[in-house]
Amino acid sequence: MPPTRATGTKETKDLANQSSLVSWVGGLADSLFATLFPSDCRLCGAPLVNISRLPVCEECLSAMRPIAGGVCSICGERLVSPYAFSGEHGEARCGLCRRMEPVFTRAAAYGSYDGGLRELIHLLKYEQVRPAANVLGRMLAEVIAGLETGFGKDAVVVVPVPLHARKLRQRGFNQSQLIAQAALKLRQADGKLALNAEVLERQRQTQSQIGLTRHQRRENMRGAFVVAKPDEVAGREVLLVDDVLTTGTTASECARVLRRAGAAKVWVATVARTLKHEATLAKPQEDAEADKAMAAFG
Ligand SMILES: [Zn+2]
Ligand SMILES: [Zn+2]
Repeated sequence: MPPTRATGTKETKDLANQSSLVSWVGGLADSLFATLFPSDCRLCGAPLVNISRLPVCEECLSAMRPIAGGVCSICGERLVSPYAFSGEHGEARCGLCRRMEPVFTRAAAYGSYDGGLRELIHLLKYEQVRPAANVLGRMLAEVIAGLETGFGKDAVVVVPVPLHARKLRQRGFNQSQLIAQAALKLRQADGKLALNAEVLERQRQTQSQIGLTRHQRRENMRGAFVVAKPDEVAGREVLLVDDVLTTGTTASECARVLRRAGAAKVWVATVARTLKHEATLAKPQEDAEADKAMAAFG
């Protein structure tokens, strides 16, 4: 049947044209992609297969898991004792929170500050890979979801831990603010969380916390933060946001000045947290990084 054969030939030809067009467009996209973005995952080095603004592969991202196992219901520290004592509501508390009530109501983190999550935070902070803030914001949104069952019925002021003006100029952005913004975008529906990055100010650069005792760290941090807008927090609940919680001294000092300015409660949400068993392992590297950071400030 000649007509059919003719049509068939035409279709084959169209298909061939189409597929060459597709491969041409595909090739163009690939080369554009390779020009605009590094072709390898910045964490593991594997070639990236999907176009994304974040140069991190799916495997690395999915390996960033929430903290597993029991943590202190107050500060989020890993519970080392299987016989964790209970607070007044029967929640597990670490030794430190049993001895002394922290100035914040509760601090919670998404993951442990190590491995890929730590590298992702570093990509944002030290290599200015801003799209990392969206992924970190998604994690923070989960932390907020866990905390908000305790929030009162009024609006909560979301306050990112500020950088010193000099550091802000140097970095170009406050990573905690970017992460908070990304998280709030995902939680817009409830309209209860209002970001206010002007509430807190960092007045002075703090010395390295390395090798200091808990008491010395507190002294070192004293006067580092001031509440620039006390009217915004008086009588209200505050959700303090930071990328990482290490010793907890920064969060405690921010919470202290916020409470003194009249904040009813201070909640703390961070993307990552150093956990007890990793603290000693992570320290030498942490020290080297902190030293490098201090040296950069001359
Ligand atoms: Zn990877
Ligand atoms: Zn605790």
